Amino acid sequence: MNQVELISFDAEGTLVTPDFSETIWHEAIPALYAQKQGLDFAQAKRRIVEEYSRIGDQRLEWYDIEYWFDYLGLGSSEPVIQSCLNRIRYYPEAIDVISSLASEYKLIVASGTPLELLHLLLQDMKPYFVRVFSSVSHYKELKSPDFYLRICAEMGVKPNQVIHVGDNWQFDFLNSRQAGINAFYIDRSGENHHESLSDLTQLKDLLVYPI
Ligand SMILES: [Mg+2]
Repeated sequence: MNQVELISFDAEGTLVTPDFSETIWHEAIPALYAQKQGLDFAQAKRRIVEEYSRIGDQRLEWYDIEYWFDYLGLGSSEPVIQSCLNRIRYYPEAIDVISSLASEYKLIVASGTPLELLHLLLQDMKPYFVRVFSSVSHYKELKSPDFYLRICAEMGVKPNQVIHVGDNWQFDFLNSRQAGINAFYIDRSGENHHESLSDLTQLKDLLVYPI
């Protein structure tokens, strides 16, 4: 690995647990839809989940909360987002690792979550990051190799001077690696696949004691 100039983190599933998103997408939105349509919660949830999978995570709309509120006729997203804020959780090691790495490296966030949600998710952690990038909000694209190259250009670094870590095999690992970045896949399932990290502490250990 070259001299590391920048460490980039995915947000959800890497720093922040899925609790907040789970609550918004699978509880609060179906509950509101049920109320608007006069359905029971289970019916509403089935219908909503069908709609989500019809779009799928390879399309930008999947990530766009405003698209869904509009499409489902749910009014303003603001009260729903506010009602779920108490569900934001960080992984237990995240703040410690981030605060300690921030004293030695430049850190950024590179996420597919739209900025309006990303800023809320990162609240306590935001001071540790020099920049927060949302592929969807800043570049209107998924976390493609091009997204990672644009971030590198924006930060004035070469891809091989960057580490990116995230929990999505395609969007975090394969696509950043294709851009020439040193990619790490974080797998919190405990199955510990070859070369994956089981948590962020392992990333820190790797930087302190390189193999
Ligand atoms: Mg993720």
